[in-house]
Amino acid sequence: MKKQFAVIGLGAFGETVALELMRLGNDVLGVDSNEETAERIADSLTQTVIADATDEEALEELDLQRFDAVLIAIGEHIEASTLCTMLVKSMGAKEIWVKAITSIHHRIAQKLGADRILHPEYEMGLRVAQSMAHPNMLDYISLGDSYFLIEIRPGEALENRPLTELKYDREKIHLLALKHGQELILQPDPDHRLRRNDHLVLVGDEDALRRFSEEL
Ligand code: ADP
Repeated sequence: MKKQFAVIGLGAFGETVALELMRLGNDVLGVDSNEETAERIADSLTQTVIADATDEEALEELDLQRFDAVLIAIGEHIEASTLCTMLVKSMGAKEIWVKAITSIHHRIAQKLGADRILHPEYEMGLRVAQSMAHPNMLDYISLGDSYFLIEIRPGEALENRPLTELKYDREKIHLLALKHGQELILQPDPDHRLRRNDHLVLVGDEDALRRFSEEL
């Protein structure tokens, strides 16, 4: 179902989010105080408005409570970002996402009632470090409390070997699926033999997953 989103601040991050929300089939209102920035993206969004997001009257005209979520992505401008968050909250927006750049910015956004606070550079930094340290780990999702879901590429030595030979702690890790090209095999049979380019999808304890990944 089509949702309605507003993205305030169309820098590299805001623009990427706005364009991807459009690609996913949603309506997006983009807001930026910089005329050139707003005009560059105008043809790609449902609606684009040039406005100062710290200007209460300008914000009121946008009727922000009609959106499913409002993202405030006013990059480096902490003061503008916090004032905008406060105004958007007081206007009764349903859900507010804020891009924060420092821990103080994070705490203020939290106090002002932001529902989700994002640190894209920090989060991306963690992902890149994980990929560099574990090159055979293709993707992961942190489930909190040291639990992870990971997609991993087993080494060539395991080609044609049955899943029973995989050396992981079966009390702490569960093999959910095998991915082979476009195909996803859920709960694969233990006698299934690994083929070239099979990926394993595992869930479980971080330390046990790390040990397994290092021994692969
Ligand atoms: P990023 O890290 O996403 O690239 P930037 O700082 O480059 O962040 O982008 C922030 C965007 O927010 C810029 O396009 C800028 O014009 C816009 N912006 C800054 N202050 C305001 C404001 N008061 N109202 C609306 N947009 C703003």
